[in-house]
Amino acid sequence: MAQDWNIKSRSHFCSVCAKPLVDRAPVVSALKETPEGYERYDAHPECWKAMERDWQPFSQWDGVYLAPVKEEKKEPLKKEDAGEILRKLVALEDPAMKNVVYVLAVMLERSKILVERDAKTLDDGSIRRVYEDRKNGDTFIILDPRLRLENLAEVQQQVVALLSGTKTFGEVSAAEAEVESREQASQEARTTNGDGPKQA
Ligand SMILES: [Zn+2]
Repeated sequence: MAQDWNIKSRSHFCSVCAKPLVDRAPVVSALKETPEGYERYDAHPECWKAMERDWQPFSQWDGVYLAPVKEEKKEPLKKEDAGEILRKLVALEDPAMKNVVYVLAVMLERSKILVERDAKTLDDGSIRRVYEDRKNGDTFIILDPRLRLENLAEVQQQVVALLSGTKTFGEVSAAEAEVESREQASQEARTTNGDGPKQA
């Protein structure tokens, strides 16, 4: 599959019976893998149980459906901004941003904006993590780039620059692409010329 990540909105209607989901009642959510990407199901638990299907969900979890509330626009919370930035980043589908997307998602999980619902190792060894927005139930399917600890600080700096608005998406993407190419170059140097001097 070409997509490394994806956003799936929670439906307000049962995917099986098409009736509205009930506020604060249990809901079963599932992701189905298709050639076009992930398809999302949200259903009354009894509907899901009764549904006949010849496929296994990529991921499935139990949640609680919360009806959308009309929010008054006042306190411009920092956390909300971070969620908004994650949304935009995911929509960009920029491979150079994979580390930034992942670190931001982890930050949002720590600040209780997102909850991790699942983690899947695919056949190619890559890991997809399924995060759900606690408030509106949107799902983010995010590639875990298996960031090395030594690179974490650099990525965190880029995330902070994005959140504070000191850097644009384009600037961060360019910086990340540069780090990646430097990484690759140093890896090649290590394999082809083990004793060569390190390039600054
Ligand atoms: Zn139903």
